[in-house]
Amino acid sequence: MGKADLHIHTTASDGSSTPDEIVRLARSKLLNTIAITDHDTLEGYRQAVPVAEELSVRLIPGVELSARGEGRSVHVLAYQFDPENLELNELLRRQRSARIGRMERILDHLRSKEGIDFTLDEVRAQARSGNVGRPHVARLMVRKKVVSSVPEAFIRYLGSGKISGIGTLYAELEEVIDVVARAGGMTSLAHPGPLYPPAEVERLISVGLDGLECIHPSHGFDQQKRFTELAEQKHLLITGGSDFHGTGKEYAPWFGVLTLSEKRVAALDRAARNRQQLNGGADE
Ligand code: AMP
Ligand code: FE
Ligand code: FE
Ligand code: ZN
Repeated sequence: MGKADLHIHTTASDGSSTPDEIVRLARSKLLNTIAITDHDTLEGYRQAVPVAEELSVRLIPGVELSARGEGRSVHVLAYQFDPENLELNELLRRQRSARIGRMERILDHLRSKEGIDFTLDEVRAQARSGNVGRPHVARLMVRKKVVSSVPEAFIRYLGSGKISGIGTLYAELEEVIDVVARAGGMTSLAHPGPLYPPAEVERLISVGLDGLECIHPSHGFDQQKRFTELAEQKHLLITGGSDFHGTGKEYAPWFGVLTLSEKRVAALDRAARNRQQLNGGADE
């Protein structure tokens, strides 16, 4: 039975391996199917397409979208959409500019409340792609010896509860779900385990998500089981992956180890095909 990893980051967002390296690494770990799910960009996916073809690794279109749901910031994984879809690409462009606006707020907060004075250009220089997020601020903090590690930066300055209002520039969850569906894709709630109480997971799902990321390194065995049962009960797709951000980064040991079965990938393929047929029908 083949193995899949549907949650991987590259240098196009906050990962430290290039798309090319990711495909080669996936091949060496005997993964049959992967999805590159960078934050709010398809750049890493696009760069990986020719390499995946060359090495016979199946590469599914993917992305991890930031959204606002239930009054907080939510990560939504999207798969099997048409990567050329104009509306989706326009949404992604908006999200990336929201990331810049958000970064300016984060830097203002650090300057005024913590006395840490970083410029946007300095943070951008940490992101090869210019697609910035908190991990790039964390890496700059390490480089400038404000903290000794990325996790310490999150604990002391960047984690949830430390900076308020930074998720408010993203699109609403409903809109994200609709745009992905119109692009022929399926959505899944990313890493629900550590983030939301069970009732909130159910409320988020009820907005119209197609799946639940049951398999994720932040989930203990009990959580994985509970989410899988919930997904089955609600007839949701079951997705999963390692959330790999590069060698030496958080969750790195799980790459090639924590995997999704091809049976789950086949269910995702079927659901997306059905949606695309329905979408096509609606246009005629
Ligand atoms: P952002 O895109 O700015 O919201 O940053 C979110 C990203 O930060 C996540 O995708 C993780 O890669 C990373 N992250 C979140 N919490 C932590 C943490 N406690 N330690 C290290 N990295 C983290
Ligand atoms: Fe990330
Ligand atoms: Fe995430
Ligand atoms: Zn991720």
